[in-house]
Amino acid sequence: MEQKKYIIAMDQGTTSSRCILFNRQGAVCSVTQKEFPQLYPQPGWVEHVPRDIWSTQMGVTMEAMQKIDARPCEIAAIGITNQRETTIVWDAATGQPICNAIVWQCRRTADQIEQLRRDGMEETVRQKTGLIPDAYFSASKLAWILDNIPQARTRAQRGELRFGTVDSWLIWNLTDGQVHATDYTNASRTMLFDIHKLCWDQELMDYFHIPASMLPQVLPSSHIFGATDKFGGSIPIAAAAGDQQAALFGQCGFEAGDAKSTYGTGGFLLMNTGKDAIRSKRGLITTLAASGTPAASRNYYPSYALEGSIFVAGAAIQWLRDEMKLLDDAGQTENICASLKDAGGVYVVPAFAGLGAPYWEQYARGTVVGLTRGVTKEHFIRAVVESTAYQTNDLLTAMKEESGLPMASLKVDGGASANNFLLQFQADMSGLPIKRPQCIETTALGAAYLAGLAVGFWRDTEEIRCNWACEHTFLPTIDLRVREELLCGWARAVRCAIAWAKDQQ
Ligand code: ADP
Repeated sequence: MEQKKYIIAMDQGTTSSRCILFNRQGAVCSVTQKEFPQLYPQPGWVEHVPRDIWSTQMGVTMEAMQKIDARPCEIAAIGITNQRETTIVWDAATGQPICNAIVWQCRRTADQIEQLRRDGMEETVRQKTGLIPDAYFSASKLAWILDNIPQARTRAQRGELRFGTVDSWLIWNLTDGQVHATDYTNASRTMLFDIHKLCWDQELMDYFHIPASMLPQVLPSSHIFGATDKFGGSIPIAAAAGDQQAALFGQCGFEAGDAKSTYGTGGFLLMNTGKDAIRSKRGLITTLAASGTPAASRNYYPSYALEGSIFVAGAAIQWLRDEMKLLDDAGQTENICASLKDAGGVYVVPAFAGLGAPYWEQYARGTVVGLTRGVTKEHFIRAVVESTAYQTNDLLTAMKEESGLPMASLKVDGGASANNFLLQFQADMSGLPIKRPQCIETTALGAAYLAGLAVGFWRDTEEIRCNWACEHTFLPTIDLRVREELLCGWARAVRCAIAWAKDQQ
């Protein structure tokens, strides 16, 4: 292990493929990234070309190695993290995809999910998979492919086709079709996997008419899946995990009660709940967390997590910039917000695509309340930035209540976590210390840690924890009475956004 210097993290995202080489201290030694085309063949449909996913991921990996002249013998392992739920079907003999990948954002199967509800399957899905039935997850996308691509159903029944999420697709290609596998975290997003028994569920496979021969073997996230010789020497593939679970692991969220909030285009709050798969009554999803190998971890194995997502977080800042033309750059918001004492009584609920957890009102729309004659453009901008913190706070409140676990602090990452005002406001609204790490590449880092643990590059999670360094902690400073007033104002604004939806029905 001595000459092994690096772990390769393949971070296959929705709009780009990235590769990062990390050293033993968890520091970034080389990064490369390449975007690939997004296809929108019809309104509400989103596709990727599976070959683009593979070729860009290969390209950035080779480039990242070349940049620092890293030789295959210096690489201890590869860890994969990926966009979740995106569905690919390929020919087992040739490895050729039979159609484009259906991306998680694609809404083409919304009617099938309505039918699933009418068929009385909602409770079964919730109980077994921990998910709320939605077109977002892989099952209805896979069924769509089998129903709509000529010959697909017959060929699947003959055992000629394979299904995979993006991790499986990469592993298959890295091993020249030797390994057809996925990990618990990715499997838990397919809506076909029983998260309690840790196996594919026959009842759900029957409902969607999915033959077992199509499905990958499900393995722990930190595990040697196989080896690849695509980089000029044999390198073990030692981890796979969905992006949000990888980020929780990269933030050292190993223990029950550990939580992280990612502020990207959308927002994702995940809390490790240890050995308990907690069933949410407030619209949070129950999912499998990424765990280190049993030997390398003092934690429960496997661990579960509660997850809540915000559809519009940083996207609201993009909207201010691109559609409202109130900004040139997202970074300007920080100084604008800090120059004001408050948002002037204005609240913006950016429910552009409805409201997610804990409200679940898909017909809600963006709402502005509290306008008076003195309100300026700056107040409006501040109200938009504050909305991300308010929405995250709503998820935090739901999680604290449902998990019953104390939360000592919240770790953050993602592009908008660069905004100091946002994080201070988050601390003030939640009453929690908000911790921003030095390394905000937490998704890739999580995949690297999981791979490194599987091959002994790192001994255990305690060793990894020493790598986590805080760049800044934001402590709550607000007067409690003011906090109460602001939170009441936000709750009223959300009620207005919901009233707009209800009035139509
Ligand atoms: P994703 O991974 O979802 O593409 P990123 O983590 O790269 O997103 O974050 C990009 C988002 O963060 C954009 O929506 C952008 O508007 C927002 N953003 C970036 N910098 C700032 C900032 N300083 N303040 C507020 N929002 C920001």
